[in-house]
Amino acid sequence: MITGPVVEMLAHSKFAATYKSPPGLLQMATALRASGKGVVVISCSDPRLNPYEILGIEATLKATMVRTAGGRAFDAIRTLAVLQTIGNPTTIVVMHHTDCGMTHFHDDAVKKALIEQSPSEKVAIEGMKFGEIKDSIEDSIREDVAILEASPLIKKSTQIIGLAYDIMMGVLTEVIGSKSEV
Ligand SMILES: [Zn+2]
Repeated sequence: MITGPVVEMLAHSKFAATYKSPPGLLQMATALRASGKGVVVISCSDPRLNPYEILGIEATLKATMVRTAGGRAFDAIRTLAVLQTIGNPTTIVVMHHTDCGMTHFHDDAVKKALIEQSPSEKVAIEGMKFGEIKDSIEDSIREDVAILEASPLIKKSTQIIGLAYDIMMGVLTEVIGSKSEV
């Protein structure tokens, strides 16, 4: 039996009454691949930001989202590789934001908590990365765009764009723009 905050969420499941079915996965993927306009946005798991809203994306199925702590790319690469196989997106957007948890809580804090939780895994945990942002988000955006550009799992033809989002002002700033057409 389910208890806790999910009980209220389940009450919302009446939404099925007015639900309209989306296209099938294979139909959608074929259309996306043919359009050559698929976009994947990597952004933070922070509940204060809604990338669909910020970027004005309606349910057009042209863009999809990966959300990780900080919007860090190394956490997202495996998912991006799968999305690339299914829908062949031509653009990846890396969006980091101001007042991000990863700028306040650094890897040391995450590791300390994990080692307390699983002391026998101390060595493995100490060797892990959790995506801290110690300098500016412009720096972390540049770093993640470079990671994606260098990744053998990401197609070299993919445009990788970097955007900084000011969560207090609602303003997006371009950090890395599109490469000019070759
Ligand atoms: Zn964040």
